[in-house]
Order: sequence, then C-alpha cells, then structure tokens
Amino acid sequence: MHTSDLSIVIPFYNEFDNVALLFSRLTPVVNSLALDCEIICVDDGSTDNTLSALISARKNDPRIRIIRLSRNFGKEAAITAGLQAASKQHVLLMDGDLQHPPELLPDMLRIQANGIDVVFGLRRSRKTDGRLRSTLTAIFYRILSITSEISIPANAGDFRLMSRRVVDALNSLPEQDRFMKGLYAWVGYSQQAIVYDVETRPSGVSKWSFSNLFIYAWNGIISFSAMPLRIWSVIGACVAMLALSYAIWIGITTVLYGRDVPGYATLAVAIFFLGGLQLLSIGVLGEYVAHIFRETKRRPQFVVEKEIGFEGKK
Ligand code: UDP
Ligand code: MG
Repeated sequence: MHTSDLSIVIPFYNEFDNVALLFSRLTPVVNSLALDCEIICVDDGSTDNTLSALISARKNDPRIRIIRLSRNFGKEAAITAGLQAASKQHVLLMDGDLQHPPELLPDMLRIQANGIDVVFGLRRSRKTDGRLRSTLTAIFYRILSITSEISIPANAGDFRLMSRRVVDALNSLPEQDRFMKGLYAWVGYSQQAIVYDVETRPSGVSKWSFSNLFIYAWNGIISFSAMPLRIWSVIGACVAMLALSYAIWIGITTVLYGRDVPGYATLAVAIFFLGGLQLLSIGVLGEYVAHIFRETKRRPQFVVEKEIGFEGKK
C-alpha cells in the first residue's frame, strides 16, 4: 500500500480563531510529505466567521475544499459529509480545534504503509478534561465494553487515518444514528493505535456540555447493544421467582402456624416496586422505539448549503 494521495477531513463548528492557526501547522506537514492532497473542511453551520476564515485560507491554499452545511447538524453528520466527499485513497480525519496534532501525520502514514488499514489516535491522558469528566468517561467506556456486541477501543476518537476501503465501508452504512466510535470498530480491517497527547484548545470551548455527553453516551450504548432491552427479561424472571417463593412461604406459614396473611405494607411496597420496574422497562423500550422511529424516517444526515472548490469534480 503506498500513500501518495490523501484527503484530510476536518469538521468545524464556530472555530473562527482556530482556522488560521490550524493551517499554519497543518500546511507545513502536508508540504513536507509530497502528497497529492485535498483538505476537505466541513463547516457545520457555524454562526461565527468560520466560513470566511476557511474561504480566505483557501485563497492561500487551493487544496482546501469547503462544504458548508445548512445548519449545525452535529459533529457526526459533519464527519459523514466530509467522508462522503473525500475522493483520495487515504483519508485522515481530525478535529479543527488543534487538539489533534497534525505533526503525527508522517508517523501515521508510515504505519499505514506497512499494510495497516486504520491508524487511530489513542489519547495518552485525559488531563485536558476535568476530574469528573474523565471519571464519567471511564465509566462510560466500561459500560460500553460490557454491553456492546463488538469491542470498541476506549479513548480512541475521530483522529484517524483510514484506507479507501475502510472509508467506503463507513460510507455504505445507512444508519442515521452515527455513533462513529462504534462504526469505526464495526467496519473492522486491521487497526493499529498511535498514542498522542491531546492538546488544550488554543481558543474556544468544547461543544460538549455534560448533558450532551450523557445523551451521546446513552445513544452509543443503545446503538451497539440490545442488552438494556434484554436485561428486563432477566429482571422480570428474577422478580417472578421471588414473588413465587414468597407466596409459597406465606402459604406454608399460614398452614403450619395459622399466621395471619401479612398485610398492607408488604402489598404497597410490592406494588410500588413493580410499578417502578415496569415504568423503567417501558422507558427503555421507548428509547429503542425512538431510535427505530428516527431510522425509519430515512432523512438525509445533513443538508449541504454550498460547496467551494469541488468544481469539475462531480
Ligand atoms: N464540531 C462540529 N459540529 C458540532 C460540534 C463540534 O463540527 O456540532 C467540530 C468542532 O469544530 C471540532 C470537532 O468537531 O473541530 C471537535 O469538537 P469539540 O472540540 O467541541 O469536541 P471535543 O474535542 O471536546 O471532543
Ligand atoms: Mg476538541
């Protein structure tokens, strides 16, 4: 496998201050590699001047191509748009906020040249995250690895170099709910990690609030596991067994000792407990139905407002 042509896909959402900085680091790396390169920048409906920053970056570097989405569709959708537009044999995916060091590219290409399909960045530490966030992240990965039907590597994100057949496989996945960490693992092929340190953002803040992260984590688990659904069969069976044993116990003690049937408190607790369990299980069922509902609508994952630099390509 030789790496002579490369698409770099970068999603941007309100990264105005980072655009020039990013290219001041990325361009020298790309230039040093003698690659036939295109840089696909997806503007995910930014409300600041990210788009004009990208357009002026393109004036200095015509390899930059821009896709502007009609609104903010989320990082997953922006990545999907970029991967679909990428035309080269190798595709590097990275963030636009400089948290993924572009200087790693030569090493990634070297590893890929050994016949590896995917070289993914593995975060050495989470020191840029707060204590609470890194603990929750660790718990999330733990749950994911227990529930998920495939193994999804922890601490591996969107920073990765992929071969054409991997990108084609990703592009062929029709789902609307794109939990990319899971999809990367799902497509398979030979994958190798390269360890890197996440840098702090030079500017701006992460777009992930805590509540977003919770929704993201929950969606991720649901998209890759039916365990939250199945677990209710087990819980139901256990509760039924307990109830049965208790019934037998009451029967025996009543016959043997002529004890009164224990009353109201037991009944109330049992009703509330079971009511709670039932609501919870219906809730989980509802989550899956909501996913099915979203999938069946088959809406496109994003809408492109305009494309710059793709003239004569399609
Ligand atoms: N991003 C995007 N759309 C969004 C949110 C984020 O395209 O709705 C981009 C963002 O501009 C950045 C990358 O995705 O280039 C990673 O986002 P962020 O830094 O907020 O995530 P984190 O690094 O905290 O995971
Ligand atoms: Mg970031």
